[in-house]
Amino acid sequence: MTTWLDTVAGIVGPRHLITDPDTLAAACLDWRGRYRGRAQAIARPGSTAEVAALVRACVAAGAPIVPQGGNTSHCGAATPDDSGRALIIQLHRMQALRAVDADNNTLTAEAGCTLAQVQDAAAGVGRLFPLSLASEGSCQIGGNLATNAGGVAVLRYGPMRELTLGLEAVLPDGSVLDSLSGLRKNNTGYDLKQLLIGAEGTLGIITAATLKLFPAPEATATALVEVSNPADALALLHALQARFGDRLTAFELISGLCLQLLARHLPDARPPFMPPWCVLLELNDGGSEAVLNQALAEALCALRPQADAVLARHARERAQLWTLREQISEAQKRDGPSIKHDIAVPLSQLAGFIERADAALQQAFPACRVVCFGHVGDGNLHYNVSYTRPGNVDLFDDEPAVNALVYDLVYAHGGTLSAEHGIGQLKRDWLRRYLPPANLAAMRAVKQALDPLGLMNPGKVL
Ligand SMILES: Cc1cc2nc3c(=O)[nH]c(=O)nc-3n(C[C@H](O)[C@H](O)[C@H](O)COP(=O)(O)OP(=O)(O)OC[C@H]3O[C@@H](n4cnc5c(N)ncnc54)[C@H](O)[C@@H]3O)c2cc1C
Repeated sequence: MTTWLDTVAGIVGPRHLITDPDTLAAACLDWRGRYRGRAQAIARPGSTAEVAALVRACVAAGAPIVPQGGNTSHCGAATPDDSGRALIIQLHRMQALRAVDADNNTLTAEAGCTLAQVQDAAAGVGRLFPLSLASEGSCQIGGNLATNAGGVAVLRYGPMRELTLGLEAVLPDGSVLDSLSGLRKNNTGYDLKQLLIGAEGTLGIITAATLKLFPAPEATATALVEVSNPADALALLHALQARFGDRLTAFELISGLCLQLLARHLPDARPPFMPPWCVLLELNDGGSEAVLNQALAEALCALRPQADAVLARHARERAQLWTLREQISEAQKRDGPSIKHDIAVPLSQLAGFIERADAALQQAFPACRVVCFGHVGDGNLHYNVSYTRPGNVDLFDDEPAVNALVYDLVYAHGGTLSAEHGIGQLKRDWLRRYLPPANLAAMRAVKQALDPLGLMNPGKVL
């Protein structure tokens, strides 16, 4: 008798249907090791037609579908629930670059390309694809789209939503939404691609996208600069933006505790100094790098004459400075578990938020410490809480109370509980608490219209 999994094997080929327990277990565990689910199998399709056929097979069998890219989600978004019924659909065989149109400043990539592959393809034709995350070697374009990923260059170029011109996706009924287009102007009804972007795989499986490219900068200047506190960091941000405009492409806040964790756990990432706070900033421009470096050095001497600062002299030093920023998540992971918050508040509220949240947490949970860093130029902070006692005893017992304290303050400051990581399963209940009822109802109506059987990544977002 033919089973449902035989049908799946017939679609992708037996080699690309995975049921071995070790590979399944790895796919059912999230990057942070917080969520462990179960699934029937993994299918690895090689084309959009195969994805569509898989979705139709899942609908016929009533099997939940979990799209999975690089599995680097910070909120358990790509981890199946523990029903053991899901089919995980991994996209990494779909890595074709369908078109690179340098004259149109666009590139069309399949969803399984890693972000690094897309960056390299753009560089290969003298262009820049500016999305940049510490996970770029393993996260995939499909995952970046499904999470509306942000990263370190949002300040200048915007998140994935702003970098996407066209999209192809398989909808929950197995039909193919074809909005692949390199047009910058196209007013033909609802912008359906934006529904899929940021939907975390709950409205369909993204199979390809047409992405915006930009001129590759000829010159880059990078500096690590001491600041006295977050308010001082914002004053420096505004002063640099007044001087350099959108040539300032990155502005990252790093707390002293982050530097200590790096020094403790990652000997290769050596901070050049240990201030209470610092910022890592970058300028991009045309023309000569020496001239840009000189302009940045003069600006920093004028704006922060007393501050410790390191200006990268060449590409290797630039990479070393970025390693500090990019390895913070890893250093924190090695230090032990933490309660992660990926919040944003308006820039005008940011310093006040940190001050009030730090004080309130200290009072309510005297053993806590906050690892605070992030894309401060966008008002986005990774505001992570752990305990100082060995093994972080009781940390997760206190998680609901810690979250309530932090999120209440975030919303009191006009902010959001997810700036870029998304909702996944980690923040689903909190979304219900903070999103206005009419917004939640509209989201549920969209979900019901597109996925009436509720098979697409169940238990995530809503
Ligand atoms: C060290 C580190 C640093 C990070 N830094 C950042 C950062 O600066 N900014 C940021 O935004 N994020 C960051 N992240 C989080 C993560 O890398 C991003 O959310 C990334 O976009 C996820 O891509 P992925 O391919 O790993 O997706 P996965 O983790 O596999 O999946 C994420 C979500 O997308 C869905 N999905 C995946 N592929 C598809 C598809 N083809 N179609 C439909 N749905 C799909 C999944 O079902 C899930 O809901 C970081 C993660 C790590 C580990």
